[in-house]
Amino acid sequence: MILILKPDTDEKSPDYLKLEEYLGNLHDIRYRIHRETGKIQTLTEFYLIGDTDKLSAEDMQQLPCVERVLRISAGYHILGRHQDDKRSTGFEYNGVHFGQDNLNIFAGLCAVDNPGHVEIMMKALHSHGEVCTRMGAYKPRTSPYSFQGHGKNCLHYVFELAGKYGIKVISMEVTHETHIEEIHSVLEQTGHPTGIMLQIGTRNTQNFELLKSAGRQKNFPVLLKRGFGITLEESLNAAEYLASEGNSHIIFGLRGMKTNMGDPHRNFVDFAHVPVVKRLTRMPVCIDPSHSVGTRERGADNILDVMHVTAQGVIAGANMILVDFHPDPGKALVDGPQALTLAELPYFIEDVRIAENAYQNRIKLAEKYRNTL
Ligand code: PEP
Ligand code: MN
Repeated sequence: MILILKPDTDEKSPDYLKLEEYLGNLHDIRYRIHRETGKIQTLTEFYLIGDTDKLSAEDMQQLPCVERVLRISAGYHILGRHQDDKRSTGFEYNGVHFGQDNLNIFAGLCAVDNPGHVEIMMKALHSHGEVCTRMGAYKPRTSPYSFQGHGKNCLHYVFELAGKYGIKVISMEVTHETHIEEIHSVLEQTGHPTGIMLQIGTRNTQNFELLKSAGRQKNFPVLLKRGFGITLEESLNAAEYLASEGNSHIIFGLRGMKTNMGDPHRNFVDFAHVPVVKRLTRMPVCIDPSHSVGTRERGADNILDVMHVTAQGVIAGANMILVDFHPDPGKALVDGPQALTLAELPYFIEDVRIAENAYQNRIKLAEKYRNTL
């Protein structure tokens, strides 16, 4: 059960203390407090855990400070979309809105290789009005002999160049909690020229200690990718780990599943789950067409498979696209064969807009037929 308090409830007020005292005295019920400070107001929610069936929602509604009571109808207490749940689904980070109702493109380097390529990439994004990118510094590689990423050594120039070209959010994978500290400290040293979205990759979806570390901090939002060999439910529970530690600024990423059934693509494309995740949870949903498809093959219609699956995700309501680009894919140190070129950037953006408009039209169509079927 969730008790949603009136906005801006003061945690030192007598009413608030009364509420805490009352809840503290309930047998077999524990609670966790989740506080969300936005630009306009602070929202406080109490998550009651335990034998909540015996509580009457009407009684709880009468408690001091309580505005609304929600009965939890799914296992994802914080991120789930419960019955009559009208709570907002989004958040704002460094001036960029992330929600189930909009779309952000994160085109960029799979792995940072040198300052020259980072600058060319960011300049191109800037000239096409994009304010988000992806930049891998810590790369989890299958072979220990492959390039592992420049790690903290590249952070200074990546952040400074982002500032120079107006990039507001960089998605950057972390594989260990020390990486979060390194990112934080270099952002401090460089004067916060940009913002970072911590990316937790498919190999770490169930790295619970990493999830707890990323969940305990509130400086950075998190892009959690779906585990490539586990069920959707298991991956959504991994997201709930982040939220239960206190950080609910989470985007859920689909990136394809590991199975030969997807051949000849690198992974089996799972973007049919975009609307499913949006129905089950309040998280914005990201698609990663590059790691799903893994090649630059194109169809008989001359359209790249990467662009086909991007459109499929967007027309189904995806809220973020994480996609590999490189100024010179032949020279990329990681995943060059799946990267799009900078000449393809405006084409990619235009193609995305077509799918996005089609999605908006589909929503209008569904609305038109809503009460007639
Ligand atoms: C990546 O986005 O660079 C990456 C390694 O993705 P994934 O975790 O989906 O394999
Ligand atoms: Mn990659």
